[in-house]
Amino acid sequence: MKQVRVETPGGNYSIQIAPGRLDRLAEAVPADATTLVLVTNPTVAALYAERAERALSATGKRVLRIELPDGEQYKDWQTLNLIFDGMLAQHCDRKAVIVALGGGVIGDIAGFAAAVYMRGIRFIQVPTTLLSQVDSSVGGKTAVNHPIGKNMLGAFYQPISVEIDTDVLNTLPAREVSAGLAEVIKYGAILDAEFFAWCEAHAQDLRALDPQALAHAIARSCELKAFVVSQDERETGLRAILNFGHTFAHAIEAGLGFGAWLHGEAVGCGMVQAAELSALAAGLVQADAERIRALTLAIGCPVYAPDLGTERWFDLMQGDKKTEAGQLRFILLPKLGEAVRTPADAALVRQALDRTVA
Ligand code: NAD
Ligand code: MG
Repeated sequence: MKQVRVETPGGNYSIQIAPGRLDRLAEAVPADATTLVLVTNPTVAALYAERAERALSATGKRVLRIELPDGEQYKDWQTLNLIFDGMLAQHCDRKAVIVALGGGVIGDIAGFAAAVYMRGIRFIQVPTTLLSQVDSSVGGKTAVNHPIGKNMLGAFYQPISVEIDTDVLNTLPAREVSAGLAEVIKYGAILDAEFFAWCEAHAQDLRALDPQALAHAIARSCELKAFVVSQDERETGLRAILNFGHTFAHAIEAGLGFGAWLHGEAVGCGMVQAAELSALAAGLVQADAERIRALTLAIGCPVYAPDLGTERWFDLMQGDKKTEAGQLRFILLPKLGEAVRTPADAALVRQALDRTVA
């Protein structure tokens, strides 16, 4: 088993990473917990809820299950309320512990429920998608969407532990695997050139879900994310580098309509675009921009962006709120493994778009 420690002002905890971890969830349950509330969705429940419940029941505590409908469109206030309805009807007290079993949607919504139920109760993340294992379950951002915008209502609220079972990825659709790998290579690109090179050497093992390659990629990703959020839990500075590729990605997602591409697919393509812009505006050597393109392709993500029209591209990127005084700001790479947040000249952005739009 691999373990990664996360230390933030909002709480310290560890991430456990092992095949079969789902059967050992009891180890993560605090002794004084009263009720364990498994929050999941029907897709994940059909595959894993019984195993999770059996493991949690080994503690001798009461176990409840709350199933929310599956999908980003249900990550909203109304669905959040289903958790409160269920817990209040079952008289859950302040020592109830929420166990979030699912992808990032379940983790974000269940985490937010934990942040506000009776002013805050403990919760455990059991992420079951690659994206949630390397990204959303770590760092304490919890939220639901509002019709006006994604993740507009939420809280910084850290879990008491993150329990990662690498075996559950075997049932994940291949597209979701590729989308999760985009966030994995992102950590290499912004923070760790050696890890980036390791990903290049193991791209096919990762896509094939080789257990050892996966365990290393997940653990290193969690370490790098933990390193960032430990220094900047609330994104007042450094944490913004985790948004590498995300300004372009946001424009793709919004421009095509959310859901047309998976978030990770858009991030993959967005990193290729941000790498081109880095070569134009931040000193990244062109050969390293090419490596980012090649690895994005190798993990199964798109590398050509949709043709939205240049003006619309700019509008959509501005909508991402990363502008200051009218100038677009980007996370760019002066070199592989190093990221800076910097304004970029519109003419260079245009050139990067020309090079990357299909
Ligand atoms: P998701 O939660 O929608 O899961 C994708 C699909 O896979 C769903 O249909 C789900 O039911 C299914 N699924 C989950 N585990 C499975 C398994 N083991 N086998 C088969 N199917 C499985 O999507 P996601 O990509 O995990 O998460 C996206 C969400 O995460 C977004 O809402 C995003 O805003 C959020 N997010 C949050 C953070 C953060 O820091 N909190 C970071 C990144 C993303
Ligand atoms: Mg992302």
